[in-house]
Amino acid sequence: MSQFESFEMSDMVLELRQKVRTFIDEKVIPVEMIVEEGGPEGERALKELQDQAKREGIWALGLPKDIGGGGLKFMDYVYINEIVGRSEAAMFALGTHTAQDSTMLNMFGTQEQKDKWLYPMVRGEIYPSVGLTEPEVAGSDPTLIQSTAHLDGDEWVINAHKWFTTGANKAAFTTMFCVTEPEGDRHKRASMIIVPTDSPGYEVVRVVPTMGHRSGNHCEIRLTNVRVPKENLLGERGHGFVIAQKRLGPGRIYHSMRWLGQAQRAFDLMCERSLNRFAHGSLLSDKQMIQKFIADSATEIQSARLLTFEAAKKIDRGEDARVDIAMIKVYGAKVLHDVIDRAIQVHGALGVTADTPLEKMYRDARYARIYDGPDEVHTASIARRILKQYKQGESWDPANF
Ligand SMILES: Cc1cc2nc3c(=O)[nH]c(=O)nc-3n(C[C@H](O)[C@H](O)[C@H](O)COP(=O)(O)OP(=O)(O)OC[C@H]3O[C@@H](n4cnc5c(N)ncnc54)[C@H](O)[C@@H]3O)c2cc1C
Repeated sequence: MSQFESFEMSDMVLELRQKVRTFIDEKVIPVEMIVEEGGPEGERALKELQDQAKREGIWALGLPKDIGGGGLKFMDYVYINEIVGRSEAAMFALGTHTAQDSTMLNMFGTQEQKDKWLYPMVRGEIYPSVGLTEPEVAGSDPTLIQSTAHLDGDEWVINAHKWFTTGANKAAFTTMFCVTEPEGDRHKRASMIIVPTDSPGYEVVRVVPTMGHRSGNHCEIRLTNVRVPKENLLGERGHGFVIAQKRLGPGRIYHSMRWLGQAQRAFDLMCERSLNRFAHGSLLSDKQMIQKFIADSATEIQSARLLTFEAAKKIDRGEDARVDIAMIKVYGAKVLHDVIDRAIQVHGALGVTADTPLEKMYRDARYARIYDGPDEVHTASIARRILKQYKQGESWDPANF
């Protein structure tokens, strides 16, 4: 298989991209702030969008047909997801927000678990959440987790303290990462257990205020002697790490695709603003420093796109894409941040108001350097894997790595 093959899109994908783009621009963006605010009005607006997306055949496009998705092939979905990324609300409106959890449950869930949680989740009837990170120990080293689960008869008894359990305040269940094999090897101590959020002893302690937002969905949760049936174990005992990695690997690619859409939207806003704002005798677009913002941003977005597509192609071909994924996780998050930052600068004071989507995008971009593993962990992993080649007397050939 030749490396660096072209990223040509089929006519079907081009048409679908246009359809999704029109839906986002005409239906989602006009109400995105209402959707993001949540509450009854936001929920109503979101439900209407979701119903429309289902009617138009653009719902959950990347998920397999047999679980209720649109059945797009992986690379085709990559190209569509780039467009979905333009608006965070679009992710929920188009049913792509469950991609990671749906894929995880589809891969590891029993038929009973799929009936209970997977299919309703894909239909958009219930929300998932995942609890790995704990306030007391470093989330970037999951071997340190302290939450426990032990079997008592036919039930798991869970005691846990987690935070940044995104969406737990409206989720139907949390997939909990807990130590079940305390004596086991450090990578085989934990298991994944599905816990309904209405279980007695499951408490949302608070929604953690983040980056100036007092309401949000990053929750601190505490589970005190929560009991769930032993059948709620996801996959095998002690396989928590494997399952988390299977969830996070493709998840990072999904994030990177969406970041491209976010960066592109910020870029569009920056270009439009520079063509309209007049200062010191000319439009901003005539100033060389602003032109540099635009040229640098275009170059960086295109570099990130090609890195992301290359990583996605490797995943699609079933090759080891760990270095590529780590690269795009770090570089994509930086490009996202830098492009939004320049777009804010070009907007002046307007850029930091909620009158444009930029200030929210900026906050979200800052998170991107931390969630699914901080920059430093991925950077170290890139170097470690590359140096391993040299230690073995080989060299790093990007086309074959
Ligand atoms: C918006 C958002 C949403 C999230 N959603 C979820 C969720 O739904 N479920 C969930 O379980 N978690 C979630 N998280 C948590 C996220 O996965 C963790 O924040 C992340 O794994 C880092 O863990 P930590 O915050 O404990 O930082 P720590 O592990 O304490 O790391 C702190 C810093 O130490 C440095 N560092 C760590 N390791 C190394 C190293 N090897 N070399 C050099 N420097 C290093 C890095 O600078 C890092 O940022 C979310 C986080 C954010 C910001």
